[in-house]
Amino acid sequence: MQPGIEEPQALYQKRIPIIPRSVKGRFRNFKWGVMLLAYSIFFGLPWLPWTRTDGSASQAVMFDVVGHRFYVFDLVVYPQNIFWLALLLFIAATLLFFATSLIGRAFCGYFCFQTLWTDLFMWIEKLIQGERPARIRLRRQAWDKEKILKLGATHLVWLLIAFWTGMTFIAYFAYAPDLIVRFLEGKAAYAAYLTVALLTASTYVAAGLMREQICAYVCPYGRFQSVMYDPETLAVAYDSKRGDGVMGRAAPRGEIKIHAARQEKGYGDCIDCGFCVQVCPAGIDIRDGLQYRCISCGLCIDACNTIMDSVGYPRGLIRYDSEANLAQPVPAKPHVHWKRIKVVGYLLALVVMSGALTYSVLTRKDYEHSVEQIRQPLYVVLSNGDIRNRYQIHLTNLRGTDVQYRITVKGLPAGALDLGEMQTVTVHSSSSVIVQASVKLTPDQVGHYPSFDFVITPLDKPNDSVIERVNFTYRKNEQ
Ligand code: SF4
Ligand code: SF4
Repeated sequence: MQPGIEEPQALYQKRIPIIPRSVKGRFRNFKWGVMLLAYSIFFGLPWLPWTRTDGSASQAVMFDVVGHRFYVFDLVVYPQNIFWLALLLFIAATLLFFATSLIGRAFCGYFCFQTLWTDLFMWIEKLIQGERPARIRLRRQAWDKEKILKLGATHLVWLLIAFWTGMTFIAYFAYAPDLIVRFLEGKAAYAAYLTVALLTASTYVAAGLMREQICAYVCPYGRFQSVMYDPETLAVAYDSKRGDGVMGRAAPRGEIKIHAARQEKGYGDCIDCGFCVQVCPAGIDIRDGLQYRCISCGLCIDACNTIMDSVGYPRGLIRYDSEANLAQPVPAKPHVHWKRIKVVGYLLALVVMSGALTYSVLTRKDYEHSVEQIRQPLYVVLSNGDIRNRYQIHLTNLRGTDVQYRITVKGLPAGALDLGEMQTVTVHSSSSVIVQASVKLTPDQVGHYPSFDFVITPLDKPNDSVIERVNFTYRKNEQ
């Protein structure tokens, strides 16, 4: 390299492997609880048997793509209900914004799939390879029998979990017991094998190999979190005034071991043990301030509280706190500031959208209908001078059983409606039929009946009848 010419910098930082230490505490326990619940739901739900109203044995939650319907316990969702899906997505997004405004990236630290699976993979790694010092030693040692066995076993278990994650995912799309048998016999659909292969690979790579890099480089949420933060947002933070004091951090020895004496001499409460850094799955030092890599998992809080307990200093040197509170000369006890326009706005939007969704689900009729006038041609003048309009009635039965519907009209002279043999029509469970109706009026009658009503009545639930107003069209001057 010539003098005066700077050595070019690498475009990508070399990854420094993160080997986190395990920790016990309130946040760790909460994370175990969330993991247990999330895994029980994800892995258990496809195996929950459910008998539908038509008596068929099935599973509680199933996305029947071929049949164009989703089963969620006794609720059957059809493509016509796409509005529900849109609302659900809006609710999920608003909930994320709401939670982030209040408590930062709590979703990332406790509920995100990436965090849940990475936590599980790290737990397996620790189970097979031992605690952090043992894992570091194993990485450094030569490829001997122990290393091959332990690393091989770790990757094998990761792959098995990744495979079962893929299998569980496809089990949501067909009757699980049958699908698994067909899959293992090599008789499942090509898409099932492709999906399992993709999910096995992506789970293994994301949770086993890339881990925190997914959060830092792949997921956009960590990058735009700052837009949703404000000075009142709670986030995992190090109290630098308390931790650093005026004399800085120091190990608790000699005269600065006791808390009161330490404070008197101006030393901070941080004993610079590095435990908070060792437990961090993102590999960062929270004492450097809020960073985009921090997923707000709270493990450094548990670590620091453990240290504070062991040296007899007050807990909470690292805690959930707001920027505004930490900036006070003497920070108050942290609490959730929800009385903010943004937060209240999110809350209102959540209430309104959840209410609309619940109302829509609870009041959905168990059949759908539409009546359309056939426009090609709009009307026909028959050889005897009568005028005929035709209509198409579309009926969809959303129930688990077959239903008979009666179609009548109101506001027309007797004999004007002609439905052929379809005055009463049977619609099979989750099926649709189209009924053609024709209405004939004499030239004298036409002016008296510009519009009339179709009445559709399910025979077993007469109170659920619907009325649909339509026009009768005839333009005399066009003749
Ligand atoms: S800094 Fe603390 S809260 Fe943030 S990722 Fe690391 S351990 Fe979790
Ligand atoms: S765990 Fe607490 S005392 Fe130890 S280095 Fe981190 S902040 Fe300082």
